[in-house]
Amino acid sequence: MKPSGFLAPQNQQSLKTILFYLGLGSNLGDRKRHIEDAIAFLQSCGQVVRKSAFYETSPLAMPAAGLFLNMVLALESVLDPQELLAVCKVHEASQGRDLEDSHYKNRPIDIDILQAGDMVIATPELTVPHPRLCERGFVLVPLFEIAPKLVHPLEKVTVTRLLSRLKGGEKIRRQE
Ligand code: AMP
Repeated sequence: MKPSGFLAPQNQQSLKTILFYLGLGSNLGDRKRHIEDAIAFLQSCGQVVRKSAFYETSPLAMPAAGLFLNMVLALESVLDPQELLAVCKVHEASQGRDLEDSHYKNRPIDIDILQAGDMVIATPELTVPHPRLCERGFVLVPLFEIAPKLVHPLEKVTVTRLLSRLKGGEKIRRQE
C-alpha cells in the first residue's frame, strides 16, 4: 500500500501515476457529507483533478431505497487499481457500510472504480472498466460533464457516445 499522502515529494515524482475515474454514491444519512468525506479521503490517495456536480438519482433495482446522491471524479494516483480498491473498501467500512452485504442495498457511501487509464482488468475482486458503466445514466451523465471525450477501452467509443446509446428512463437531477 502506498498512498501518496504518506510519501516524500521526491518519491511521488518518480512513481508512475494512473488517471482513475471513480463513481461515488450515497443514499443513507447525510448523503452530501458522506460524499465530501470520501473526496477528502481520496485526496490522501492522490490528486483529485476533476469533480462533477452532485446529481440526485432514483435507485435502480432497489425499489424500497431512498434517492441516491451521485457524482464522479478523476483521481491521479500512484496506487495500482487493486490497492485503490482495497483502501476504498476500508473507507466504505469505516463509514458503516457492511461489506458482507449483498449488492443493491442502502449504503452511506459506495465508491466504484469506473476506469483506470486504459487498463482492462478482470479478476474475481475487480473488473475495470466497471461492468455496469455503459448502462448507468447516473454514472454516464456526471462522467460526460467532466470527461466527454474519455474513451472506453473495450467499447472503443467516447463517453458522449455511450451516453447517446442509453435508452433513458432514469431520473437524474443535477444539484445547483
Ligand atoms: P457494489 O456493491 O456494486 O459496490 O460492489 C462491491 C464489490 O464489487 C466489491 O466487493 C468489489 O470487490 C467488487 N468490484 C468489482 N469491480 C469493481 C470496481 N470496478 N469498482 C468497485 N468495486 C468493484
